[in-house]
Amino acid sequence: MHLKAMTLRGFKSFASATTLRFEPGITCVVGPNGSGKSNVVDALSWVMGEQGAKSLRGGKMEDVIFAGTTGRPPLGRAEVSLTIDNSDGALPIEYAEVTLTRIMFRNGGSEYQINGDTCRLLDFQDLLSDSGIGREMHVIVGQGQLDSVLHADPMGRRAFIEEAAGVLKHRKRKEKALRKLEAMKANLARVEDLTGELR
Ligand code: ATP
Repeated sequence: MHLKAMTLRGFKSFASATTLRFEPGITCVVGPNGSGKSNVVDALSWVMGEQGAKSLRGGKMEDVIFAGTTGRPPLGRAEVSLTIDNSDGALPIEYAEVTLTRIMFRNGGSEYQINGDTCRLLDFQDLLSDSGIGREMHVIVGQGQLDSVLHADPMGRRAFIEEAAGVLKHRKRKEKALRKLEAMKANLARVEDLTGELR
């Protein structure tokens, strides 16, 4: 599995559609200060499901949408597509090439697509998580982030390893199921109280 290409449209400083192609191996992005190198990394993180504006160096999520310049008006939507070579089947989907797209509208709506088909954020996250490149796996090490990995407490370190091993998804599902079970127990106790009162 390797990242073949990324297309940005209206994402941060990339107002016009811009496609970056990547070959297997190491890719370096070079450019002057403020030219958008970190925006490329933000786009990668965003399309992989990042939900925190702060992680994307913004105050609110809409900050990822092109805000306009003196010569160009702001845009109403941001879109990033990631094309992944899946000929080795690392992503559990029957396509040799997978394109993941995230779109966000200025009115707050957003859309996720897998190979052009609209899907839920959960489907998107599950697909990535199963292959070990989900949102919480630190494949992207930002400036200063190395420190947080090195200084993570044992639980934090365990979370990185669990994500890489693909068990984090199951842990989250278990936690969700346990929360539902607790709510059910509370409801059941309430029903028992009421039936007790009616006897
Ligand atoms: P450095 O080398 O200094 O770290 P860089 O190449 O990583 O710089 P970025 O931080 O990726 O640069 O890009 C910053 C530029 O992106 C700034 O000019 C900023 O105005 C622009 N930018 C960020 N968000 C938006 C947005 N929503 N709309 C338009 N431009 C934006």
